[in-house]
This record gives sequence, structure tokens and C-alpha cells, in this order.
Amino acid sequence: NSSLHEFDPDVAAAVDAELHRQQSTLEMIASENFAPVAVLEAQGSVLTNKYAEGYPGRRYYGGCEHVDVIEQIAIDRIKALFGAEAANVQPHSGAQANAAAMFALLKPGDTIMGLNLAHGGHLTHGMKINFSGKLYNVVAYHVDEQTGQVDMDEVQRLAKEHRPKLIVAGWSAYPRQLDFAAFRRVADEVGAYLMVDMAHFAGLVAAGLHPSPVPHAHVVTTTTHKTLGGPRGGVILSTAELAKKINSAVFPGQQGGPLEHVIAAKAVAFKMAASEEFKERQQRTLEGSRILAERLSQADVAEAGVAVLSGGTDVHLVLVDLRNSELDGQQAEDRLHEVGITVNRNAIPNDPRPPMVTSGLRIGTPALATRGFTTEDFREVADVIAQALKPVYDAEALRGRVSALAAKHPLYSTL
Ligand code: PLP
Repeated sequence: NSSLHEFDPDVAAAVDAELHRQQSTLEMIASENFAPVAVLEAQGSVLTNKYAEGYPGRRYYGGCEHVDVIEQIAIDRIKALFGAEAANVQPHSGAQANAAAMFALLKPGDTIMGLNLAHGGHLTHGMKINFSGKLYNVVAYHVDEQTGQVDMDEVQRLAKEHRPKLIVAGWSAYPRQLDFAAFRRVADEVGAYLMVDMAHFAGLVAAGLHPSPVPHAHVVTTTTHKTLGGPRGGVILSTAELAKKINSAVFPGQQGGPLEHVIAAKAVAFKMAASEEFKERQQRTLEGSRILAERLSQADVAEAGVAVLSGGTDVHLVLVDLRNSELDGQQAEDRLHEVGITVNRNAIPNDPRPPMVTSGLRIGTPALATRGFTTEDFREVADVIAQALKPVYDAEALRGRVSALAAKHPLYSTL
């Protein structure tokens, strides 16, 4: 029963180094966040030892009386948070939530529609070598080249032409809000299910700062670790009518034993997401990304060929268009890494460069908002990014400004 440091100093050292990295740099990967200590504690608990195949009250193993309580709390909290009729909190990840939802509603060979990967969709929305692209016949829709926004006329046209069984609305890299009512109208017109994958913006929905897909969709999937700020994991919300199908698609359809330690951590995160503190944090998240979009639209960066896709943002991320910059996506990601800011390069619609290089950056504000960044701090970060993307930049000075911001907002100081 020795501690991690005693038993395995190699792994312990790498964990410590990662903690230091998170504390000393600025995390701006749009899909990342900092889980609260209470979430880490639940996730690192003895619940990891427990097998609990089945659902609360209907398990295939003995000794589930306590995990039943925990899983039911998680279910009740997330149903209340989003006003959903039914919830399955067992998917191990967002990808598994999507796989299970599709498994519940579709047969192999059925047609699905999803946003093209290079236009902001996710792998699980129909990418060729993902399960979704292999099992189903995929018809992708796109963003309009002029506006950078999803082209609903194309969605309707393709739906009428291909009669999909399921339409996926959702994204991994898109700076605007989708019109869920319009998606549902199209789905109804062709007799398709509407599945909304709100993995990225679930936290904004929970805070009432983004329209909710729940009243419009048959099924809503999400991750719990992005804007929602919990442990890594997935959830499926659905109508009461579909609940049984969804549950049996998750278990035994896709998974064995649920991760009850993660489910406990999800429950803690859902409690947090219902708080005023969480709402205020989501407001700062949005404010931060608006500040960033504005700064990256100014003349000095435009001169360096840097532009903001769709001209701004309504959500927690900004997509930077580098097609006219001397930096490609990889170089820009490296440049920001050099000054202590972590982002990811991202393909942009009609990207002339290959996916491992790209001509874009995706920059998000959820983690910094969790860290306590104010409007003023976000202005400072936005300026550091703007300066770093110019042809001539002072890496040392920018690193100093990043360190000052990190020091101003200590992270995990009790760990
Ligand atoms: N759905 C969307 C929209 C996502 O952006 C992601 C992850 O980036 C996922 C699903 C998959 O989540 P996970 O990485 O937990 O499998």
C-alpha cells in the first residue's frame, strides 16, 4: 500500500511534471478544462474497484448498493441540469456515447448526415476510417464559404436527396451556434432522427448562455470534460421513449462494466454546473473568446495575414485562418508553445494544406476562465497571441507576460 511516489517514482515524476506544465503555461486547447479538486478526488477513489454491469437497481453483480446511489445521483442531476427526460451516464467517452447512440438508432448501411470533418465536424460524425464512416453511409454537409456558417439550404437539399435515417448536428471546431429548430424541421421532413452532439458547448447550455438542443433533438450526446468541466467521459440524453434502446445500446451493446469512479466525478461536476459560480465562469469564457476574436481581427495582425474565421465567435473558441500568413498551422502552434500558450492546429474549410500541417488554429478560453481569468487578463492573453503570430516577435518578453498571468492565477495549489 505504498504511495505512487514510493512505488513508482517514474510515473510519479511524469505526473508531477504534467501538473507543473498545467500550472506554468496557459491552456487554450478548446476541448480542455481543469477539473475541480472534488472531481479529481471522486475519480481517484475506491470506486475504481467496483464492477457494476447493468443499471441502478438492476445490476449483474452484488455489492452495488453504494454505486447505485452514486449513479442515480448523476442521472438525476444531469436530467435536471438540461431538462432531459432520460440520461445514460455510463459512456466512457464522447466517442463511445456517439457510437452507442448510433447503435441504438441505426442499422449498418443506413445513411447518416454530419458536418464534414474539415469544416468542423467530429471524427464520429462520419469520418471515413472512424466506426461512423465504416458502418454507415455518410453524406457530409458543409459551411458556406462566404459566411463560414453551416449552410442550412445544403443540409435540407442533401437530406431530401439522400433521406438519411439520422442527422448529426454538432461540431468540434465551429465558432457559431447551430439552429437546432431548423435541423429538426429538416429531420422531420425526411423522417430522420436528430442527434445533437453538444460535447463542446454543453457548459454554455448548462449556464443558459447558448440555446439548448434538448427540446429539439431525439438524442443529445456530450462529453463531460470540455466546457462542462468534469472528468473525461460521455453522456447520452434522450426522450423517455428512446431511453430503453439507448440503455441497451450502451450496455450490453457497447460496454461492459461502467466506470463508477468516473460516474461519481460526473455527478460532482453536474452539481458544480448547476451553480451560480459556474454560470459566471461560462460568462467569462464567452467574454474571453470575444476579446480574442476582436484582437485577432485588428489591423496589425491582419497585415500579418491572420484572420478570424466567420469574423468572430458566439462560443468558447476562435478559429484562426492562416491561409495568408507566413505561418502554417503547425508553425503557429509551435510559436505559441514557445511563449507558453498551448493550442492546437486545426484544418479550416477548404484548407490547402494536409491535415497534419493545416492552415488554422483553434483557440479556446474554457480552461483559463476556470483558472479565474478576468476580462483584463483575457485582453493581455489576446495581445500576447497577436504579437506571437506576427513575423517579428520577442519570444522572451512574451514568455514573461505569460508567466506573469500564470502566477496571477495559481492552479491546483493544494495538490
Ligand atoms: N464529439 C465532439 C463534438 C467532440 O469534439 C469530441 C472530442 O473532441 C468527441 C465527441 C469525442 O469525445 P472523446 O474524446 O471523449 O471520445
